Amino acid sequence: MAEPYDIIIAGGGPVGSALALGLRDSGPRDGTLRVALLEARPRAVEVDDARTIALSHGSRLVLERLGAWSLLASMTPIRHVSVSQQRGFGRVELDAAEAGVPALGYVAGYAALQRALTTVLESRAVNVMAGCAVRAVGGDATGATVSVDCGGGLRQLHARLVVIADGGANLNLLHVKTRDYRQAALVCDVATDEAHQNRAFERFTPAGPLALLPTDRGWSLVWTAAIDCAQELTTLGEVQFCTRLHATFGAALGAFRLLGRRQVFPLVLKYASRPVAPRTVLIGNAAQILHPVAGQGFNLGLRDAWELAHAIVTRGAGDPGSATLLNAYCSQRRFDRTATILFTDSLIRLFSNDIPLLNPVRGIGLAALGGIPPAKNFLVRRMMFGACG
Ligand SMILES: Cc1cc2nc3c(=O)[nH]c(=O)nc-3n(C[C@H](O)[C@H](O)[C@H](O)COP(=O)(O)OP(=O)(O)OC[C@H]3O[C@@H](n4cnc5c(N)ncnc54)[C@H](O)[C@@H]3O)c2cc1C
Repeated sequence: MAEPYDIIIAGGGPVGSALALGLRDSGPRDGTLRVALLEARPRAVEVDDARTIALSHGSRLVLERLGAWSLLASMTPIRHVSVSQQRGFGRVELDAAEAGVPALGYVAGYAALQRALTTVLESRAVNVMAGCAVRAVGGDATGATVSVDCGGGLRQLHARLVVIADGGANLNLLHVKTRDYRQAALVCDVATDEAHQNRAFERFTPAGPLALLPTDRGWSLVWTAAIDCAQELTTLGEVQFCTRLHATFGAALGAFRLLGRRQVFPLVLKYASRPVAPRTVLIGNAAQILHPVAGQGFNLGLRDAWELAHAIVTRGAGDPGSATLLNAYCSQRRFDRTATILFTDSLIRLFSNDIPLLNPVRGIGLAALGGIPPAKNFLVRRMMFGACG
């Protein structure tokens, strides 16, 4: 006999966890919703992920509402962003004080973010089934069935709604569009002679963007390059690696030092045009995997989670997995998703190439963004709130 739930969330990464908390915060009327969060990683296993996440101001507001923000101890505000291109003119300088805000964004470790959310989930007694990998999901008009492996053979769970938040790992039920960037991001911590002073840098190179984000240890580097080149960078000794980094980024911060290990992430654009199916909805990276340029992926996924929780909480006594609710959610999210996918993909198409004719176009574009206040304001608002800002 299948175990009955109202909502099963498949994947307890930052987006799935945020949704579980959003539903938990839904007040007494919805306290009766039976929610299970299924996470493949066993509870005792720490998250092994070197990436940092640039959180937008909008994400801060959501994480505050969910009770996780105050637990992000080592979070660094970004007060200034400098965008430039290698081998070309044009530069954009974004400044928090000029925009009249305390920070343009905040940098937190992926593992620290996950820990903060897990702590709140535990303190609020959310039903988290850790060490449970979802193997299959099926849905029809009456309900959804989930086959899950919790280490003792497959179990069948039943729910009115299944939310897939597995990061796009393996539960791809829907037709997805894919574009292989043939790039990978090398991620590691570095230190420089110059202190960060809460500045962030995004430098476009023909091989891909290179970002330096301020952290409590120095900088978090996200260095995008062709896949074999990114792999090769992990094999270089510290001196060679830092020399290559210095040659690519430039001398503005002095010499680099490598702190800790280097990790490589392959990069693709992958998205479902309509992330819903009967009794099933995809959110976060399960719905769209973006290039990390401009740090949009988690911020967009968090908005998915927040808006879905809102749609469920405000539905009244209705069915949380009804086609009406899912279609309304899908329509509500369309603009933000499409605009954000287009924004990141266009940046890569325009900047990650060596086409000589495009060099002045890019320079003029950057100069215009930096010099025209409404354009600059648009960029600041996008950084802080996403496409709906
Ligand atoms: C190098 C890099 C830098 C980035 N920088 C930024 C940034 O600065 N700002 C930003 O907003 N975004 C950034 N992103 C994107 C961001 O990391 C993702 O958008 C975010 O992690 C998505 O969260 P998620 O919970 O949807 O998926 P994930 O983080 O992938 O989590 C998925 C979870 O599901 C679990 N899972 C998987 N399969 C199953 C299963 N079958 N059953 C149960 N559980 C399962 C996994 O164990 C995991 O816990 C970056 C990405 C990369 C690669």
